[in-house]
Amino acid sequence: MSGLAVFAELPLTVKANPRAKRVLVKLIPGRGLEVVTPKRFDPAQVPDILEEKRSWIERTRDRMRAAGIDLSGAPPQLPASIDYRAIERTVRVDYLDRPGRVRVTENAARLLVAGPALDREGLLDGLCRHTVKKAREALLPWLDRASRRTGFQYAALRVRRQRTRWGSCSSRGTISLNAKLLFLPPVLVDHLLLHELCHTRHMNHSPAYWACVAEYEPDYRRLEAEVSRGSRFVPAWFL
Ligand SMILES: [Zn+2]
Repeated sequence: MSGLAVFAELPLTVKANPRAKRVLVKLIPGRGLEVVTPKRFDPAQVPDILEEKRSWIERTRDRMRAAGIDLSGAPPQLPASIDYRAIERTVRVDYLDRPGRVRVTENAARLLVAGPALDREGLLDGLCRHTVKKAREALLPWLDRASRRTGFQYAALRVRRQRTRWGSCSSRGTISLNAKLLFLPPVLVDHLLLHELCHTRHMNHSPAYWACVAEYEPDYRRLEAEVSRGSRFVPAWFL
């Protein structure tokens, strides 16, 4: 069981997926190690697999920790304030212990979360829903401005909280944006919107696509790299 002992500080989940072709080892923010196993896999082999992947796991774990990503699986704390960096707005969060459904209201620079104090998951869920709504309100006019500036039209916008992707664009021109964008610096949001809008012309990452991006943002390589490390701006309760 050496493999398990080595990573004792990381919670481990083993999931069987009959469609998996081979064993997959992943590190997931807020959840730790996840091993996905294919059909007819003997779970007793998991420690050996982790041992084989040890250097990758250690490297990835250290990189994620350095980026401020929590892997402990400990439930996130309720925030006392939230920095919605994209819209340059920091709000203080107050909690009101009250029975019944969780309600979140915002006025001036204060968020009031009312609900049962013991229902931490419910309170966090309320904050998350409020944040997604706020992201939608901020990103729609923002995307419209970017669309007018570039002349690239999109058909519809969807804003959701997604685990990994920052955004995507369908062949029908529907742009999907991750609500986590609300925590990124504005310059990265600008870039991500440009990235998706250029996909309305080129549905790939071909040289022609990047030439299109470069026309509006010559410094796109640096910004792409920054976006890929953007999770460090996202608070643990919204990951
Ligand atoms: Zn893309």
